Amino acid sequence: MKWKVVRFGAGSLAAALLSVQSNGAEAQQFHGLTVGTYAPCDFGCTPFPPVTVSAAEIDNMFNAATNILRDDVDGAGDADQFCDVSLFRQQEVEPFMAGDGDVDSNEDFWNVSEYGSSYGHTNFVKIVRSITYCGRTGFFEGCAPIGPRNSVVITEGAVRSAGAGFVLAHEVGHSVSLGHQDGSPENIMYPYVLSSAHGVWPWQCSAYNAPVDGDGPGYNPFTPRGPMDATAKFPQDDHPRMDFSGVSIEEAAHRTYVDLVPAEVADYYGDEDVAVLTRMLHDPREADHHAKIAQLIGLIASGRDTRHTSALLELVKSRAAARDAHASATISLGYLAHRGDHAAFSFLAHHARDIKSPVVAWAIQALGLSGREDARAELSRLERDADDDEKSARPGRARRLFRQALRDNDDVRGRGLRAYYGR
Ligand SMILES: [Zn+2]
Repeated sequence: MKWKVVRFGAGSLAAALLSVQSNGAEAQQFHGLTVGTYAPCDFGCTPFPPVTVSAAEIDNMFNAATNILRDDVDGAGDADQFCDVSLFRQQEVEPFMAGDGDVDSNEDFWNVSEYGSSYGHTNFVKIVRSITYCGRTGFFEGCAPIGPRNSVVITEGAVRSAGAGFVLAHEVGHSVSLGHQDGSPENIMYPYVLSSAHGVWPWQCSAYNAPVDGDGPGYNPFTPRGPMDATAKFPQDDHPRMDFSGVSIEEAAHRTYVDLVPAEVADYYGDEDVAVLTRMLHDPREADHHAKIAQLIGLIASGRDTRHTSALLELVKSRAAARDAHASATISLGYLAHRGDHAAFSFLAHHARDIKSPVVAWAIQALGLSGREDARAELSRLERDADDDEKSARPGRARRLFRQALRDNDDVRGRGLRAYYGR
C-alpha cells in the first residue's frame, strides 16, 4: 500500500473579499471569494480543474444576498424587517490553493478557512468545488462555523444556483455569530433555506451590522491575524423536522438545502419517487440539480432496487457530471450500503483502497456513513496500512480521513443514520 505518493495540486480555488456596508458607511469588510493554499497534496489528489466562477457570478450572489437581507417581505409585520446592510465584493476575486478544492475533513475545512487571515483579511468568502464535511459527513452547499469571520465556504455549484443569495446570506449569518432558527421556516437562519425564507429580525440585523471583531466573538479584536480557532462550533446541533407534505419530488429536488438535504425525506417519498429522480439524472436540463438529486436518491431509496445503485454509479463515472455531483453520488452510495446494498459497498471498498481514484476520499467517508461492520473492518485495515507507511509525527491526511470515517462508522452503527443527522 503506497500512501506516500506526493504530487502537487495544480488547481486553484477562488476567494472574494466581501464587504458589508451599512448606512452608506463601511461597517465591516468581508473579503470576497478565494479557494486554496499551495499545499503538497499527498493523498487522493487528482489534477483538478480550478474553480471557474466568474467575478460576475460572485457579484450576482452578493447582490442577491443583499436583496434578501434588505427585503421587507411582510411590511409592518414582525417576521421580517428591512436590514440596512450591503454585501459586496471589495477586491478582485483571487485564486488560492488550500488542499485540493474538495473539503472532506475537519482539517481540510480549517485549512481552507485560514486562507487570508495571515493578510489580516478576515472576511474572505471561499469558493470550493465540493464540501462533504461540515461538522459531520454529508453533502453541503455551504458551510460556516458560528463566529469566525473568515470561514464562509461555498461550493461553486451553489454560487451558480438559483438559491445562491440565500446560501450566502445564511452562511454570512453564521459567520457573524447567528445560530439556526428551528421553528421559523420564513427566517434566513432556518437550516434549510426556502425561497420564502427572507426573514431577518432586528437583533439578527444588528449582528450583520456589527463591526468586524477580528475573527469573531471571543477573539481578540486587535489581532485579526493568526490561526483560526478550529474549535469553533459548526451549526449542527439543532435540526428541525422538515415537512414535505404536498411537495412533489421534482419540487423537493429543486429546493435549496444549505446545510444538508434533510434525512426525513425518507418519510415522505418512496421507490416510485426514486424512479422519477433517476429519470431526472438522465435529463441534461436538470444538470444543475444532479448533486441534490443524488442525495435524495441515497436518502430515499430502499436499497432493494439495483437500478437506483446503477444510476448513482453512472453519475459517479460520468465525465460530463460536475465535481459536486460526483461527491454527492459517492456519499449517497454510503447510504445505500447502509441499507444493505452490496454493489454500493463493493464500489466504495474498491475505491477507498485506490489512492489514484478521483473519489477515494469520498469513498472512505461513505464507508464511514454506511455504519457496516465489513466497512469498519476495511477502514481499520486501510488505516493500519497508512500507519505503517507514515513515520512522521503528524498524522497524514490519509490517516486522519480513516479516523474520521471510523468515528462516523461507530456513530452510525450505534444509533443509525437518522440520528447521526439529528433525526
Ligand atoms: Zn446553517
